Amino acid sequence: MKIEVMDLRFLGEREIIASYLLAGDSSAAIVETGPTTCMQNLLGGLKERGVAPEDVRQVLLTHIHLDHAGASGHLADALPNATFYVHEVGYPHLADPSKLLKSATRLYGERMEELWGEVRSVPEDRIVALKGEGEELEAAGGVLTAHDTPGHAYHHLAFHEPGSGMLFAGDVAGIRLPGMSYVRPPTPPPEVDVAAWVRSIQGIRRISPSVICPTHFGRFEDVERHLSELEQRLQDWLLFVEERLDGGSSREEIAAELKDKGDAEMLAEGSGTQDSGRYDLAGNYEMLVAGIARYVTRRQEGA
Ligand SMILES: [Zn+2]
Repeated sequence: MKIEVMDLRFLGEREIIASYLLAGDSSAAIVETGPTTCMQNLLGGLKERGVAPEDVRQVLLTHIHLDHAGASGHLADALPNATFYVHEVGYPHLADPSKLLKSATRLYGERMEELWGEVRSVPEDRIVALKGEGEELEAAGGVLTAHDTPGHAYHHLAFHEPGSGMLFAGDVAGIRLPGMSYVRPPTPPPEVDVAAWVRSIQGIRRISPSVICPTHFGRFEDVERHLSELEQRLQDWLLFVEERLDGGSSREEIAAELKDKGDAEMLAEGSGTQDSGRYDLAGNYEMLVAGIARYVTRRQEGA
């Protein structure tokens, strides 16, 4: 099996959203579709690599957020032989995206169309719901294992390909752009659960992949360093946001402070603020603070 990263060129920018191509001898699979706005780039990427749309038999989705799975409905037509694999909790939203779109519209407002484009439903007979931990599925002449990895979203899966040692990590392994070491936790509302996320990171350590492939973006081999940085930053952000909320800061103030802190950390490792701006395309501070603030409130209400 040959594995390649396809750059979907989100908003015309390089290396923000990836789709992974798994090419076998007689069939192919992809992990993540990207949004509808990138679909022509995805289909172009397949063509460039000599993969006919009919050859794609599996589309594996880490979760149903629009930057990862938004093009699925359109691709059900464009990839006529593909079956879509998704966590069982995500399944209803793939078959009928109306609730998902309502929730996304609350976050993205009038930018919905520009960012994600039209979202269509996937016919139910084209979807396989995965029950979660340890489930195996055949793809591109190999067998991948799905791992339950909640934290960014409850219905999040990561897919492990044992031949290459790659873990297609969706958002559970954070945002990290090529050439960078900085890992930014994608923590948008509404489902962020830091405690579950930390347990998922532990779970990834047990899988012990040799390469980690976040959808934002690429492949990284310093797995343990990457995971510890993510874990520490999640804990750090949680404390930071909680403390500022208790102190009466507004979300905007917290987001500005967290950005300054993040930019300083990136500068310290030799990157510039242009890199921070590129990370924003996969998750900006206003949104990430809103997600953590929501987790903090939910936890306080639950306690
Ligand atoms: Zn994402």
